[in-house]
Amino acid sequence: MQKMDKIAEFAEITPSAKIMTVAHGWRAKCLQRLVRLDLPVPETVALPAQTVRAIAAGHQVDAAAILAHFGEGALISVRPSPENPDWGGPSTILNVGMNAAGHARLVETHGQAAADALYLRFVQSYATHVARLDPDMFDAAPSAEALKDALRVYELEMDEPFPQEAGRQLSEVLRSMARAWEGTTARLLRQAKGAGPEAGLGLVVQEMAQGIGKGVSGSGVVQFVDPLTGQPQVTGRYLGQSQGRDALKKTEAIYLTRDPRGPSLEDIAPGIFADLVRHGAVCRVKLREEMQIEFTIEDGRLSVLDAVKVARSARAGLKIAVALAEDGIITQDEAVLRVEPRSLTEMLHPQVDPRGPRDVFVKGIAASPGAATGRVVFSSAAAQASAARGEPCILVRRETAPEDIRGMHSAVGVLTERGGMTSHAAVIGRGLGLPCIVGASELKLDAKEKTLTAPDGRVFREGDVITVDGTTGEVLIGATEMLAPALDGSFRTLLGWADAVRDIGIRANADTPTDAATARQFEAQGIGLCRTEHMFFEDDRLVVMREMIFADTSKDRAAALARLLPMQREDFVQLFDIMQGLPVCIRLFDPPLHEFLPHSREGLRELAEALDRPLSEVVRRAEALSEFNPMLGMRGVRLGVVLPEIYDMQAQAIFEATVEIARNGTSVVPEIMIPLVSARREVELVKARVDAVAAKVRTKSGVDFAYKLGVMVETPRAALRAGEIAQHAAFLSFGTNDLTQMTYGLSRDDAGRFMNTYVQQGVFPEDPFHVLDVDGVGELLHIGAERGRKARGDLVLSICGEHGGNPESIDFCRKAGFDYVSCSPYRVPLARLAAAHLALQDRAASGKR
Ligand code: PEP
Ligand code: MG
Repeated sequence: MQKMDKIAEFAEITPSAKIMTVAHGWRAKCLQRLVRLDLPVPETVALPAQTVRAIAAGHQVDAAAILAHFGEGALISVRPSPENPDWGGPSTILNVGMNAAGHARLVETHGQAAADALYLRFVQSYATHVARLDPDMFDAAPSAEALKDALRVYELEMDEPFPQEAGRQLSEVLRSMARAWEGTTARLLRQAKGAGPEAGLGLVVQEMAQGIGKGVSGSGVVQFVDPLTGQPQVTGRYLGQSQGRDALKKTEAIYLTRDPRGPSLEDIAPGIFADLVRHGAVCRVKLREEMQIEFTIEDGRLSVLDAVKVARSARAGLKIAVALAEDGIITQDEAVLRVEPRSLTEMLHPQVDPRGPRDVFVKGIAASPGAATGRVVFSSAAAQASAARGEPCILVRRETAPEDIRGMHSAVGVLTERGGMTSHAAVIGRGLGLPCIVGASELKLDAKEKTLTAPDGRVFREGDVITVDGTTGEVLIGATEMLAPALDGSFRTLLGWADAVRDIGIRANADTPTDAATARQFEAQGIGLCRTEHMFFEDDRLVVMREMIFADTSKDRAAALARLLPMQREDFVQLFDIMQGLPVCIRLFDPPLHEFLPHSREGLRELAEALDRPLSEVVRRAEALSEFNPMLGMRGVRLGVVLPEIYDMQAQAIFEATVEIARNGTSVVPEIMIPLVSARREVELVKARVDAVAAKVRTKSGVDFAYKLGVMVETPRAALRAGEIAQHAAFLSFGTNDLTQMTYGLSRDDAGRFMNTYVQQGVFPEDPFHVLDVDGVGELLHIGAERGRKARGDLVLSICGEHGGNPESIDFCRKAGFDYVSCSPYRVPLARLAAAHLALQDRAASGKR
């Protein structure tokens, strides 16, 4: 077999050597940086990916040349060094070169027990990782007997004595590590972390700095931040007379800093401890990162073997990035880019502490993040009663309907058996910041018996305590340890830096004063969608609303609406007040009217009583309102055209609130949005009436005000006819929930049933209600935007469906020239950061061009 060019085979890691991350891997590059910083790194050589690939293909590496580098009888370690630390790699092998002669020498210098332990450790790892023998056969605590056994078993299994020649050992170790990298499992694992098919493995061969000896000897790891909070804090473990990462595994390991609970490295070797702290500080500044350092001490001499990025929680990652930027070590833009937008969600809500036990009883769709613990309740009434008693509860329903809204407000979490990402429970849950799991279809819910049966047969009753983890979709039994939200100074600072670079607006979907306050807290630039119908589910309003629905004449309807008017006006005054002049986009009434009627016989009877009408009439009228396909029926602008008094009342309430707020010194330009439009004439009809109402309010109040009228594009036809529709609209806001539903012909409330199968079988790459379908729905968005802008150059474009906060949709909207995206208030921080990432990435790409 042809030998490879020797120079290309490996390189000694010196300050000036040509060590490159792409060729030699991150570990080799990091070690070179440590060498340049003058840290006490043992002699190291790096094998580039090209060499390792050749070894895997059968080339013989010049092991003698590598060994010559370390001198006669030296022991060495071999560690993986892929280009990216997240790509994994084969296990490190320590003490290569160990044999009977080395063992005898060690007995002389370090004693029998240390020599046995070290040799045994090498035999164990060689046998299992290189010879691929069963680990159980070598699983014994160190002793002279165990060593003898291990050597015997090896010989028995392999038909040859344990290899004694260091060159042979090293060649075999390198070959097995090189081949392991080529294995299918390793490939799939790294590809899941973003590695390309060509990703190679570098290897690092380093002289062993033994953690055994007569003086202070041992090994440990140290880092300078708390991995969960990111707060500065020396953490780590040290174990005397040990190697590798033993200190992390063994209970006898001691603390690093002085600690009342037991002895520490700072006590036994204060000088070495101080050196470690110094090295840590140098690494932080020069490597521009919080590093975990692996070290050994041999007879009081410190060696730094390795340094890896501290593994960290999302909140720690943010804190570390901000601290590095504030200390001038990285730029603010870099700090922004270092925080993954989706990781922010974890910081906005309490989370299940990952260190605690998890007793999962069912898994559903993680529809609204965060975790909450409470007692199971099966109805909205029970949820309200529970809240009144001050007992946190989890509302469990087959699915939720608008009439459950008050129950949802009273609950700390929601769990439904049915539904998908845009079902009622999911949308409201995200809006309220309420942890929510939907589509837990393996649950058996018996609403009559008030029981909940888990797939494994365990039964839960009203009052039992469960925890809903809306971040993972897991429902846990009982209460769990929680981590508090982390909306601290670092969080605000980072988002402030993000705002400075982003180039698309971020508004919030907010229906209530609480939503609006949350939107402000997260610094949304206005409200992009206020769904007004939610305002009519309050008890006192619901009765009037039902009267309005049952009105026989236009006059009766107007009378009921006149009673709703002051309540609705107050809603808008509150919203305008909270938003303090920021834009507020109010969508006129959208849902089918039957949603406001009771669904049970009992409820209909109560309604008959309240309206003072015979039950039979109420039942007949309710039946008359029911539709085969209500989402495609009498809703949205169709109601506005057929029963125009409703929109008249809403427009009047909006304008009167505008006047009232102007008198208090705040000026708003309300935006009024018409839902479910499919034809230009619908817009013309509504516009004529809204303009007339505005004129009336102006005359009556003597106050002039401006407003904008826009159209919600959520039917495919509205997108196609955007050119003519835009002639009457100051803005178009794409409602991608309905638009997705209608483009696919897929019910947003029922898709959960088969969506998993569809995604698993690759019919859809993702749930299109969750991730915008840029191919189909996206094409309609493009068509609508282009035709709309052509008709009207100053047309404001936005998206307000649930997709609004997703980084993929924001990317799409930026490229399509949209002015803003609007999303649930709790997604606003993520959207702000994602938009900043996209702007910075564009900037970097155009800088390269
Ligand atoms: C939409 O359809 O995208 C939308 C925002 O409206 P709703 O979810 O209220 O139907
Ligand atoms: Mg809609």
